[in-house]
Amino acid sequence: MLLVVLLFPGRSCSPFTSWEKRVIQEQDSVLYVTTLWQDSSILRTPSADLSSAELRSALLKTLEAKMLRTVTDPSQDGVGIAAPQVGINRRVVWVQRLDKEGEPFECYENIRIDSLFGETVLLEEGCLSVPPLRGRVPRYNGVKISYLSNGQKVTETVEGYTARIFQHECDHLDGILYIDRADTVFTHTSWAATRSAFDYIRPEVMNK
Ligand code: ZN
Repeated sequence: MLLVVLLFPGRSCSPFTSWEKRVIQEQDSVLYVTTLWQDSSILRTPSADLSSAELRSALLKTLEAKMLRTVTDPSQDGVGIAAPQVGINRRVVWVQRLDKEGEPFECYENIRIDSLFGETVLLEEGCLSVPPLRGRVPRYNGVKISYLSNGQKVTETVEGYTARIFQHECDHLDGILYIDRADTVFTHTSWAATRSAFDYIRPEVMNK
């Protein structure tokens, strides 16, 4: 009987570390967003694929719901977010599908960019984790991505600005920030706004 339990763990089974559980569970629905100025080691660590146990876990669903609340919160107002930006080095992102009717946010697990195609386009970008800067970043116009959907591998081709968002978010999963690729980095904000970005308060739960 014990063997059966070990082979078929319940859906609440979760191998997330105790620190990761606290980060996900103890914060309100809008999570602290790690910034380059305070949490560079998390942002620079390549993220691991979600294990099959993590994919089944209720904790992952909680993380994904809170990531969506965070990226759509008026204080952030982003078009995408990656799990390392909230302290969790796993391959899960939300991307706003500007190429779809209604521009919905969609979640992608164990996502990878398989190939890049098309011309290179230079456009301005920002990042929730690198406030208050902006930068001009060259990106390919098209991406071919693969990810898991209900446990099945799916491949998809995306073009235009949404392809740029996928490139930005997938870079986060590899520890790469847009400033690594930008040809110019600048700020539009006042010195006071710049100071406030550095004074962003890091909650106690983020301390390991
Ligand atoms: Zn970013």
